[in-house]
Amino acid sequence: MVNKIPYELITLDTAAPREAEARILLVYTGGTFGMGQDSNGALVPFDFRQLLEKVPSLSKFSLQVTIVAFARPIDSSDITPDHWSGLANIIHKFYHAHDGVVILHGTDTMAYTASALSFVLQGLNKPVILTGAQLPITAVRTDALDNLVTALEIAAAKNAGGEPMVPEVCINFNNRLIRGNRAQKVQSNHFDAFKSGNYPVLARSGITIEYNHAYIKTYDPDAQLVVDGKWCRQVAVIKLFPGLCMEAVAPVLQSPGLRGIVLETFGAGNIMANNWLIKLIGEALAREVVVLNVSQCLGGEVVQGRYKASEALAKMGVANGYDLTTEAALTKLMYVLGKGKSYKNTIQELITPISGELTIR
Ligand code: ASP
Repeated sequence: MVNKIPYELITLDTAAPREAEARILLVYTGGTFGMGQDSNGALVPFDFRQLLEKVPSLSKFSLQVTIVAFARPIDSSDITPDHWSGLANIIHKFYHAHDGVVILHGTDTMAYTASALSFVLQGLNKPVILTGAQLPITAVRTDALDNLVTALEIAAAKNAGGEPMVPEVCINFNNRLIRGNRAQKVQSNHFDAFKSGNYPVLARSGITIEYNHAYIKTYDPDAQLVVDGKWCRQVAVIKLFPGLCMEAVAPVLQSPGLRGIVLETFGAGNIMANNWLIKLIGEALAREVVVLNVSQCLGGEVVQGRYKASEALAKMGVANGYDLTTEAALTKLMYVLGKGKSYKNTIQELITPISGELTIR
């Protein structure tokens, strides 16, 4: 496991000579955010030692920032479960000396990383805010500055009682704060890149940052951070579509090492009344492969049995994924299977909320 990611450590005190009001860990993983142009116009990773020069408004904050910059910044397409463990270990290492964490991450797989961290960071009671940008920090119309500055402000925010305002894993993007395991990337051109189809936005930033307190996780002063996680990789996503053929899915469903499947079904969890597919799923279940049913819709939930077209799944023992996003379902499947529990307990854990990722009505 790449639990140890090589990184460079940079410290930045925007408060000096005053005492900082908050201590923030800023982890830079890569992605569009940190790209700068070299003298030939080629895109190269931005040097975070120049952050204050590039974002002079940061000096208005009173922050002590510890920057952990990946030695080899990566496009988020290259993120693996080892990086999730590596990030969790970095957060754990710096946790007690900091009030909050901001992670700069490419947008393409940010929702997967946010979901994975929300499961593996058990007992989290400080903000972990992921952000990134659609345009590099060096571009004239960049969204990087707003996203970063707001993320830092949210990571440092405390309520009147001195408790962290948002003690959970979130994505801050384009003036919206979204619970990390409810987020999906929905836009690759516009700044409005993330949506949460099934859970309210946790904060909106305009002239001020307005927090939606009723939906934010409650702070637990006694919680102790534990990083616990091995990821099971013998999993797959099968997305249904009209005309799906047996030759395409049989090799996946019959693969000997397979442990879990996220089945992306139609509407409220429906599947075609197709004998070969139902039979293949039944055979996989008999081999104790976990099958988790989530919807292809951005909003709404799976209700197995609402339609005839999903009754068979419920009867066979397919797990109801309720309103899980595919990103949260897949990372949760990898996380829960990684614990190596019995088949029954694995399914029970999958359909029980771990960190606010699903709603059971
Ligand atoms: N391909 C980039 C990445 O996800 C896109 C971005 O950063 O937004 O790393």
